[in-house]
Amino acid sequence: MGSRYDDLLSLFVRRGFLWPAVDLYGGFAGFYDYGHLGAALKRKWEGVWLSYFLGLGDNYHLIDTTTILPEASLKASGHVDHFTDILVTCTKCKESHRGDQLIEAVTHEEAEGLTPAEVDAKIKELGIRCPKCKGELGPARPFNMMFPLAVGPSGRDRAFLRPETAQGAYLNFKREFEALRRKLPLGLAIVGRAYRNEISPRQGTYRMREFLQAELQIFFDPETADAEFPPGSIRADPIRVALAAEKHEPSARDRAPADLIARGLPAFYVHHLALVQRFYLDRLQVPRERFRFAELDERERAFYNKVHFDIQVDQGSLGGFKEVGGVHYRTDHDLAGHAAGSRKDLSVTIDGRKVVPHVLELSFGVDRNLWALLDLGYELSPSRAVLHLPRPLAPVAVGVFPLLSKAGLPERAESIYRQLRGGLDALYDEAGSIGKRYARMDEVGAPFCATVDHATLEDGTVTLRERDSTAQVRVASSGLAATLRDLIEGRTDFQALGPAVERN
Ligand SMILES: [Zn+2]
Repeated sequence: MGSRYDDLLSLFVRRGFLWPAVDLYGGFAGFYDYGHLGAALKRKWEGVWLSYFLGLGDNYHLIDTTTILPEASLKASGHVDHFTDILVTCTKCKESHRGDQLIEAVTHEEAEGLTPAEVDAKIKELGIRCPKCKGELGPARPFNMMFPLAVGPSGRDRAFLRPETAQGAYLNFKREFEALRRKLPLGLAIVGRAYRNEISPRQGTYRMREFLQAELQIFFDPETADAEFPPGSIRADPIRVALAAEKHEPSARDRAPADLIARGLPAFYVHHLALVQRFYLDRLQVPRERFRFAELDERERAFYNKVHFDIQVDQGSLGGFKEVGGVHYRTDHDLAGHAAGSRKDLSVTIDGRKVVPHVLELSFGVDRNLWALLDLGYELSPSRAVLHLPRPLAPVAVGVFPLLSKAGLPERAESIYRQLRGGLDALYDEAGSIGKRYARMDEVGAPFCATVDHATLEDGTVTLRERDSTAQVRVASSGLAATLRDLIEGRTDFQALGPAVERN
């Protein structure tokens, strides 16, 4: 076995999840393609995300907006002037480096948010040289991470690939507010691609130049926010948090919501931390100890955020807790900025008061989340290689096999397979021993396998095997699709289906 990272990437490539894009031409740093299983997993993740987050409010909706935005809109949002990383170029080999990463590699402490002058001073103080050629490093300077475009034949209309989906929601807020009969809170979700010209893309899908975001922008009236998101049962859940001073430790503490509010966090914000945590622990089945929120201090926060906690998942392949999303209180920064930039009034009238709505952004990197789930789920031991994906997310729901390739078993198994594939992601396999077929299904995370044998021809039952426990029960093939759907949605317990049978 190699490193955890190499083992994962080997699985992804071998089985059709994902791999570096354009590898035919030697690769394209910061870009990944998804194969048939990866694309299916992504679609299911999006479905689970949408059903959960749109379900949080009765005025929350999915929209879809352009990925190219004109310069004026990104000037108003602040991205043209402030969406920068610190670039340091080697004077000898001309390699580009991110200033904060050069420093972090030496100090093992976060260096995000330093100014160019501070980066220069640190590089001098620590004697840092080019990691590639040991050459002398040039002066640090801000580098804008947006991809510029020239739109139209004259190329005079400057535009950019969007650096986040969020702007689409802000640009369309007023239209949706009118179309949806002028109510707050209003939630606008976008699932779509965003682009950042990262100085040094790395760590698999963790830092990419083209990536998929799932974001929900919640527009609300700041005066009534705590009443709109009132205390309820959710507020009793302890929340896993590493405060700014604790986040270099490899752990987190459970804190009562009331404690977080007492520390100065807005109640509506804490309410949403609890909801996001519930999504990870319940829907994605992330083990509690491998999930946490990490607070960003003022230097590290993006220029538009007032309160900012990262959502982090502990991943062996990436060396510990890594960001998969964030909960961002952006205040009225965005609507006020677009109102000033466009000279249009983006305030609304609520109960006779003029209000510029504030925004709470729940932001998720879909590629990062998929990588985290695959990392968490992949068990590689001398005896088994199993991908423990949550059942509703598994790209293959059920493998269907004939025990033997003769005596009418393949025909019967194929007929069951054809019935199942109408509503389920079923896969038919009759190649190799039954043990090898189970092993192949384990490795792609299929939660169930149904095997047809001689008894099936007599009494219509099949052997149903569960991935995690490898337990097997005998069930009727006639109601198999409904049984599987109940199992996947958690309405039925596998052990309750019938008596366990000896494993074949
Ligand atoms: Zn160099």
